[in-house]
Amino acid sequence: MAVRIVSAVAVLWLVAACRQSGSEGPAPAAGATRGELPLKYAAQPTSAGITEGNLMSRLYVFADDSMQGRAAGTIGNVKGTDYIAAQARQIGLRPSGDGGTYFQTIPLVRRQFDASLAAAVDGAPLTPWRDFAIRDQGPGAPADVHATAVYGGTLGRDSSALIAPDRTVGKVVVFTAAPPDQWPGAFSRAGVTSRYAGAAALMVTRLDDIPQGLLDVFKTGSSLTLKPDVPASSSVAAVPAYLYVTTAVATRIFHGSPDALSIGATGGMVTLRASVEDRPTPYPARNVIGILPGSDPTLAGEFVVIGAHNDHIGMIDHPVDHDSVLVFNRIARREGVEGPPDSITPAIAAAYAAARDSVRRLRSPRPDSVNNGADDDGTGSVALLEIAQALAAAHPRPKRSILFIWHTGEELGTLGSDWFTDHPTVARDSLVTELNIDMIGRGDSADLPGGGPRYLEVIGARRLSTELGDSVESVNKRQPMPFAFNYQFDADGDPHQYYCRSDHWEYARYGIPIAFFSTGGHPDYHQITDEPQLIDYAHYARVVRYVRDLAVAVANMSHRPVVDHAKPRDPHAACVQ
Ligand SMILES: [Zn+2]
Repeated sequence: MAVRIVSAVAVLWLVAACRQSGSEGPAPAAGATRGELPLKYAAQPTSAGITEGNLMSRLYVFADDSMQGRAAGTIGNVKGTDYIAAQARQIGLRPSGDGGTYFQTIPLVRRQFDASLAAAVDGAPLTPWRDFAIRDQGPGAPADVHATAVYGGTLGRDSSALIAPDRTVGKVVVFTAAPPDQWPGAFSRAGVTSRYAGAAALMVTRLDDIPQGLLDVFKTGSSLTLKPDVPASSSVAAVPAYLYVTTAVATRIFHGSPDALSIGATGGMVTLRASVEDRPTPYPARNVIGILPGSDPTLAGEFVVIGAHNDHIGMIDHPVDHDSVLVFNRIARREGVEGPPDSITPAIAAAYAAARDSVRRLRSPRPDSVNNGADDDGTGSVALLEIAQALAAAHPRPKRSILFIWHTGEELGTLGSDWFTDHPTVARDSLVTELNIDMIGRGDSADLPGGGPRYLEVIGARRLSTELGDSVESVNKRQPMPFAFNYQFDADGDPHQYYCRSDHWEYARYGIPIAFFSTGGHPDYHQITDEPQLIDYAHYARVVRYVRDLAVAVANMSHRPVVDHAKPRDPHAACVQ
């Protein structure tokens, strides 16, 4: 019964969704609302009021397929940040990036094994990426290994049948691997690495099973980080190198098939040279920063920061059918929570098939490969432009200055805000509050439990300043339609860890009071289906007007929000919610 209901709801929903436009083409006329087919298509000039039409006009540009998913370090992110900077100039914001520009480029690099990567067994060389593949274990992994091999057992079966960790110290431990379908999470790379932390290297005989596409990812390196300001500290904990090898290599190491070995059997001498280089990304990753000067000569030297993130997660390698993804996520991935494959029950699979087939009767497959990031964080980025345009036209302007910042690299681990707060372009002490907005265009009951027109999640508003938390509440009460704030995700120890997962934390770590606003998760989170036609523009516009009013209230306070809670002792220590 329950499944039939899910299926019926999904089909109805889909029929509604399919009647809407795709994200291609110019922005629809103002006034079209969610669920309706916009009848007229025309790019509308934006006005100083914060309207649904303005938000729609800008979001359809910023989340267009041509922006290619805006991943930091790619051409798509350059296009997105060019658009924001052009708009900031038109609005009249004062540039506050590097060298009089709107851009602050962050030193984004890809960690990658350099050309000297080599390994050998008893002096006989192995061919990288054919005989062995190596994973980046971070700065604690050794660049050089020269050690005896020892057989560790078969990963994926009974963990008590593996070699004891104290027998592996300083050794190269070779593990055979059970077939992939018998490979439980307990034998993840991280799990094995921490169990055998004292070993020099870990080798797993899985290379024959690893598809070429995945090998290419290992080879080009997948971790994008900030180039460190200072050389990696010696306090980084040592971890073993981690390699996948072919069964043939294991046979060479032990002079015989590894299947016949007993645990603890000693093999030959393994050498490894694996140093990592930091390569700049092909395109720059840029924060965009613009200032609206305050009207009070004294207070104008202080800043209320309003932040969002300009980057998203880019494109997927192989286009997939848009509508199938849309259907699947509504049936099996509510709230953007990705279930493991074994949570797809036969009932869910059947519901999915029925809903997909109902869409097929309406239209043929439409390949899509762009993660548009309309909600994440197109809505936040466009909101900043709207607020800037509205406040630039306000009389009088806010007393304190407003610093608008579109952070890059949020999706890679809040890298742009990390860099800006370590290297602020105005004095750090002059930042009185940061208001962060990320994903503020959804939040209805189809998106998440408790959703509706008054839904808004608030995180962190009282964690440093009770006074800021009070303003968050009092400004809301004065709204024509106040929000019913959801503070659930602000609780200490909440498993979602939202306080630590978006840009606001980078400000809070320096004792700058923050408040974070979001309309929350939904099935299209980080999917090719996060597109502008699924945004609830009425709800979105009310959130933007509220954040504008809150920013103005804080900017006009006689004193900066009082910090009455302990700030983190070390701004570089890990975040704890
Ligand atoms: Zn986001």
